[in-house]
Amino acid sequence: MNTTERSAGTVRDRYAPSPPGLQHIGGVRTALFNYLFARSQKGKFILRLEDTDRTRFDERYVQNLYDTFDWLGFRWNEGPDTGGPSGPYIQSERFELYKKYALELIEKGRAYYCFCSAQRIEKIRQEREAAHSGESGYDRHCRGLDSAEAAGRAASGEAHTVRLKIPLGEVTRFHDKLLGDIEWKNDDVNPDPVLLKSDGFPTYHLANVVDDHLMGITHVMRAQEWIPSTPLHVIMYQSFGWEAPEFCHLPMVMGQDGKKLSKRHGATSIDEFRKQGYLSEALVNYIALLGASYEEGKELYTLEELARLFSLDKLNKAPAVFDYKKLEWYNGQYIRMKSDGELARLILPYALEAGLFGGNGPDAAQEKTFLASMPLIRERLVFPGEAPAKLAYLFTEPPVAPPEEFFPKKATLAETIALLEKGLPLVSEMALMNDEDAENHIKAFAEKAGVKLGDLMMPLRVAITGARVSPPLFGSLRLLGKERGAGRVEKALKALRKALPTELL
Ligand code: GLU
Ligand code: ZN
Repeated sequence: MNTTERSAGTVRDRYAPSPPGLQHIGGVRTALFNYLFARSQKGKFILRLEDTDRTRFDERYVQNLYDTFDWLGFRWNEGPDTGGPSGPYIQSERFELYKKYALELIEKGRAYYCFCSAQRIEKIRQEREAAHSGESGYDRHCRGLDSAEAAGRAASGEAHTVRLKIPLGEVTRFHDKLLGDIEWKNDDVNPDPVLLKSDGFPTYHLANVVDDHLMGITHVMRAQEWIPSTPLHVIMYQSFGWEAPEFCHLPMVMGQDGKKLSKRHGATSIDEFRKQGYLSEALVNYIALLGASYEEGKELYTLEELARLFSLDKLNKAPAVFDYKKLEWYNGQYIRMKSDGELARLILPYALEAGLFGGNGPDAAQEKTFLASMPLIRERLVFPGEAPAKLAYLFTEPPVAPPEEFFPKKATLAETIALLEKGLPLVSEMALMNDEDAENHIKAFAEKAGVKLGDLMMPLRVAITGARVSPPLFGSLRLLGKERGAGRVEKALKALRKALPTELL
């Protein structure tokens, strides 16, 4: 079936993690695309926890999943915490159901009991390895057992698994919305995989297919590493006599070296990015572009815009390359969009940690300065954590820089002192002006005095902010006020004069 054939509002898709770890870029990308697709189709996005492998399961990872998506700011319409008509949405709470469906397949002759012990399976594996046979998987040993006899053995309590009976000599075809038609010879598909384990727990394949069917999933959008499982799933849909959902396997996310994105490349868990000071909007925007293109030349998208623009034709076949530098750029862009208040709130924890206000929280005056300083640094930040170092000179007296730091290009110490002396009276005046007036004022002065504007500004900047590279001078001066501003210039002059060889004094 084709997407366009389904009427709007019927799309149901899902994110089905089996959280044996923290939420990472790949998983969140899958979740985001499913979320966007459902929204673009006025459908429903479902969260289902696939915790059939209880040995690898950990409640902390479930909490991490909830925290991550709360932070990222998008949610499912149905899920373990939200509820919904197809619950429960946690597979461990649905165990009884899977057994019933495994038995249904046995009755239909599409699955069978296997009584092979784990030791036997391991022995075959070792023998094949020794013989370099190249064969792998189960040898279909129990496939030919008489079904009534097998049912009797199972009923009498003999340990068993249930295996899918892959129809041999046939070809399984499915259409992938992104990759087109895909064919697998059934003889090459995983030979008769286990559906129900000896402890009665379902495997991923069984639980996944049964739940996608019972939850009315119309579209399965997942990472390309699941493609080898898809023929199995299609065979299961056919065996049950159910309509299969549409499939769309998303391109891999690679590092810049063309290898699958992993810890070797840098942060991969959302937690790490968050701790590094990434904004959720920047991450969401960037992840939405991993393997999709929306509008030519446009890079910044809100979640709302993405939900409007997303469609399966916008997905790319080529692997997506994760570019950490680009993500930094996004962070800078989203920082620029913050209001003063929002940015101050983002920076405050870092400022407190850095002791920007002298150990405690800001007093009223410091708070005012802090808020007013946001326009000075907004354009210069990639991460909120960079702000305290950039703002320190507004809250504590910076040490006087070494003399050479003050020198404009080619100027000597004596010339630098002369420039600062000229600038000193301007400082008190400019501290009371807006940027434009301050700039005009100092420009006019430089012209009249016959000095270059840059030469006049450099030593003033170093005196006032403590460094050659700093947030804008006029704004800084305004925040410091004329006394503190002029005081710093005087202090610098004193230090520079001290550095002069005595014969020049
Ligand atoms: N539980 C699988 C996972 O961990 C789900 C794969 C799928 O989407 O079918 O990714
Ligand atoms: Zn067997």
